[in-house]
Formats: sequence, structure tokens, C-alpha cells
Amino acid sequence: MILEKVPVLGALETNVYFYVDDETNRGVIIDPGAEATKLAEIIRKKEWIIEKILITHGHFDHIGAVEQLHEKFDIPYFIHKNGEKYLTDISYNLSVFYEPYIVLKDANFFEDGDAFSIGKNNKAQLQVIYTPGHTTDSVIFYDYKNGIAFSGDTIFKNSIGAVHFPGGDARQLADSVFNRIFKLPEETLLYSGHSDVTSIKAEKSRYYNYD
Ligand SMILES: [Zn+2]
Repeated sequence: MILEKVPVLGALETNVYFYVDDETNRGVIIDPGAEATKLAEIIRKKEWIIEKILITHGHFDHIGAVEQLHEKFDIPYFIHKNGEKYLTDISYNLSVFYEPYIVLKDANFFEDGDAFSIGKNNKAQLQVIYTPGHTTDSVIFYDYKNGIAFSGDTIFKNSIGAVHFPGGDARQLADSVFNRIFKLPEETLLYSGHSDVTSIKAEKSRYYNYD
């Protein structure tokens, strides 16, 4: 599998991830937050066939390039069923504070436990784990076969998500982190929306004493 991180700059810098099968060149893009032209150029140069846009949550800095990629390559986009509100309400996706306003009306929806296969023979499979708290539509995409997860803004290297935006809830976030994410194997690597890669073990060690 090819995992490529591309930092893009809108009002904030966000990590966009390509996750592509190296045999078939088919894969997905996760959280195209800005710089659609740059992302499209990468897709064209690498001759990747991007089959889906997967969204960890509907904040503007994770969805800013969705519309253009959707239109240019006819790629469908997917978000948790609670994400409809975020994609269609500029106060919820926070684009009310930044130009341009973002309203996305062609989303496909998934639920906790759904999974997306990538590549030949299910070489990778991204399982949806619902992790509300940062927003009511937050998920992580967990590939148990390869021991990685795309964690959006739920958990970062050395911190967890903010809860002061619409739909944020500190109690839910704690439940998502401690009772869902920290239950994954400790060697699992976490690729977040705004930090370097980390691991479950490293983040758990901030709360638990292993000695
Ligand atoms: Zn966010």
C-alpha cells in the first residue's frame, strides 16, 4: 500500500492522505481540505484512480477541496450520516468565518461499523469507527490489516480534539478516545488531520503509567 501525506494550506494547514494500492493504483483520498489543483495534479501525475473521497468530519479545513475533486474526476464523497448538517450549514462547517462558504449536497453517508475495501483481495480495509466529541460526525478510519488509522481531529500527536465548536462535547470525546480508540492494538499508527504520525501506545502513555 502507498500512504502519502500531503499538507495543504487553506486558512489552516491540514494533512490530506492518499491511501492507494500499489498494484492496481486504485485508492482513496482522505480529507481533501484545500488546494484542489495541487491534489488533482498529484492524482494525474501518479496516474492514480481515486475511487472515493472519505471525510473524517465536516469542518471546512477537511472538505475545502471536495467539490472540485468531485467535479473534476467524478469521485463520490462519503461522510458519517451526522455529517449532512456540517456539509450543508456554514455555521457548522465553520466556513462562515472564512471565504469561500462551503455547501456540499451530494454526499453519501456511512455509519459506525461500515467498511471500505481498497485494492486487490481486500489488501486494505478501512473500517469506520464512530468517535463523536470534536463534532457529532467525527469518525476514524481504521485499517486493522495494516495497523493504521486516520484519526481526523479526534486525536493528534500529544493532544486530543477541540470541543468548543458546534456539536462539540468533552464527555463524548473522552469516551471516544478512552473507550474506542484506546481499545485498538497499541502498535496502531495514528495519522491525524494536523500533526505528525503517532501511535496508540504513545498517546496512551500520556494518561497511563506503564512502569
Ligand atoms: Zn475539525
